[in-house]
Amino acid sequence: MLSTEIDHEQGTQKWIQEGKRIASDRQRRIDRTKNWRFDTIATHGLYDLQQALNLNNGSIMEPIYMSPAQAFHNFDEMEVALAYQMPSWTYSRIANPSTFFLEETVALLESYGSGHKASCVACGSGMAAIRTAIEPFLVKDDSLPQPNFVSTSRVYGGTFQQFSIRQMEDKGIEVRWITDNMDLDEWAKNINNETRFLYGEMPSNPAVALFDIEKISELAHSFGIPLIVDATCASPALLRPLEFGADVVVQSASKVMAANGWAIVGTMTAKMDLPSIVGPEEMKADFGTWVKLLPYRDNGPALSPFNAILTLNDMRSLRSRVAQMSRSAQNIAEFLETHPKVTSINYPGLKSHTQSEIANKYLTLVDSENDTGQAENLFGYMMTFEIEEKDPFTPVNTRQFYDKLNLIWRATDLGRVKTVATIPAISTHQQQGETGRKLAAIQPNYVRLSIGIEHVDDIISDINQALDSI
Ligand SMILES: *Cc1c(COP(=O)(O)O)cnc(C)c1O
Repeated sequence: MLSTEIDHEQGTQKWIQEGKRIASDRQRRIDRTKNWRFDTIATHGLYDLQQALNLNNGSIMEPIYMSPAQAFHNFDEMEVALAYQMPSWTYSRIANPSTFFLEETVALLESYGSGHKASCVACGSGMAAIRTAIEPFLVKDDSLPQPNFVSTSRVYGGTFQQFSIRQMEDKGIEVRWITDNMDLDEWAKNINNETRFLYGEMPSNPAVALFDIEKISELAHSFGIPLIVDATCASPALLRPLEFGADVVVQSASKVMAANGWAIVGTMTAKMDLPSIVGPEEMKADFGTWVKLLPYRDNGPALSPFNAILTLNDMRSLRSRVAQMSRSAQNIAEFLETHPKVTSINYPGLKSHTQSEIANKYLTLVDSENDTGQAENLFGYMMTFEIEEKDPFTPVNTRQFYDKLNLIWRATDLGRVKTVATIPAISTHQQQGETGRKLAAIQPNYVRLSIGIEHVDDIISDINQALDSI
């Protein structure tokens, strides 16, 4: 061997060893953090004193690395890093140290209390996270020529478009919509040997529909396929689907996880060793990491490091904020339920809710049993209701109510610290047309409320004056 080759070999080995040191430091930080309570994990994540002192001039907050790329000491380090033989970030489309802080924290929160290990990738939006989660299961496989997947039909409008237009119309991948989430037979009948995964939104936006994650994940696994759950409207503070058998969870972290409203963000978090009838073994072994290293790198749905830190900063108070929003939402739902001008109200915390049993099973404030000795059911910040109309298909009173709102914003937004009211039929579910809205159970006179952290009396008083004006 030439001496330059020997030098190169030694140089490469040095960086592989350095990589092992970085990986074991990361593991040390995970081991330290994962036994903490939810709030402590959300507040500190994997960022510790040692990292602050060694890397960041002692900064007690995680730094925002607004850099496109990582510099390398030399040829050997670059070669080892780009071959993924050492942990590194290389280029901000592939990875970024600030984004890592967010991903590592989300992975720990989504797997909190489940005993599972999880890995997370952060994306530039919730829609990008959904696409990142589903596409690896929809790859071409000549032995399974007609890929399909099965999904709850009560999904967010953007998800409906992504599935029915981008996947089905553009690419011929069939989406099979479930009309009754609770009907196990309907789910089972729609699955065949070309079904790649099951998908559900829980609770759904805006219909607040629920499904039995445990039963549907068992069904998915009996066919050797994964269950993917969008838990945006609950957030990990109320529901962690991985604990109940789901394999992948997606969040539009744009909503309550980044509730102060400065960023559009998505996260996808997956368990280890998930079932799939397609894809390589490495994909199934650690889906989140595999996605990040390969399709995420190639497709480019990366999140800005700035938005990663904004989200991380908001998440520190996720649990207490979701608790406050949910308690206010419960009061507001009870107020609306007794109001003479309100003909229906859909909120899982009401006894009248048709799915209150399933709501009680799945929606609890994380760690509340440590506060009070008993787990506290809380049902989130979102509800829909109807105002009396002669003809619900040409809403008059609803329009009057909506335009009279004074404190509450008219916007298509959700999970924010500020209370927002939306008319789904003309906003989130406008593009779908009549059939799509029917599938999603959206009527023209539905009002969706997303309750913020203002004092509940002020929110109720604004709703009350707007109802009085009818
Ligand atoms: C908003 C939303 C999305 C899409 O997220 P973006 O961050 O807006 O791309 C997906 N699912 C649900 C349930 C949502 O509410």
